[in-house]
Amino acid sequence: MIIWNKASFITSAPSLDLLPPDRGIEVAFIGRSNAGKSSSINTITGIKNLAKTSKTPGRTQLMNCFDLGQDCRLVDLPGYGFAKVPDRVKATWRQFINDYLSSRACLKGLVLLMDCRHPLKEQDQAMLSWADNYKIPVLVLLTKSDKLKRGALMAAERSVKEALEDYRHTRVICFSSLKKTGVDSARKILLEWYQLSCKE
Ligand code: GDP
Repeated sequence: MIIWNKASFITSAPSLDLLPPDRGIEVAFIGRSNAGKSSSINTITGIKNLAKTSKTPGRTQLMNCFDLGQDCRLVDLPGYGFAKVPDRVKATWRQFINDYLSSRACLKGLVLLMDCRHPLKEQDQAMLSWADNYKIPVLVLLTKSDKLKRGALMAAERSVKEALEDYRHTRVICFSSLKKTGVDSARKILLEWYQLSCKE
């Protein structure tokens, strides 16, 4: 059983070889900067400042690892989409994420954060297609759902679902850290990933 608010920080790894040993089950969070990744990690765990929000674009190329007990971890991957970042840094990031997705055996799921008002940007699409390539299930959180009226939100959700129809292991949830919407559904899917894999 996972006790969400007992999650604790393990390490900030600057490279794959400095991650915790590749065993147990890991779920990684990724998304454009400002999509609400830190807030969603804090909301899902119920710990206010677990994922510290870095306000320095492109600087934090670190993977922040959190322990959920029983060899289950949550990993906060570096955000993307900073306009000011040079191509060289973008290429390094791409390589880094690709290496992580392709080599991390304990990775059982990816949580992809997209602002519900600006979904499916180029790098989001790239993430989805890489995850599909490596057969890693994806939970898409359409964040800041409190920012849209009900009708507009439903339309946004529908169009994202339609766009992702071909990705068989992808689910989409509307999420708001502000209103605590979608938290239970997100936790349920994460638990499924952690538990299912535990049974294997
Ligand atoms: P990150 O860069 O992806 O980690 O994004 P943050 O979690 O730091 O959030 C970026 C900004 O969006 C901050 O100003 C948050 O307060 C705001 N934000 C995050 N989640 C929500 C939400 O559910 N609703 C609203 N209205 N704002 C949010």
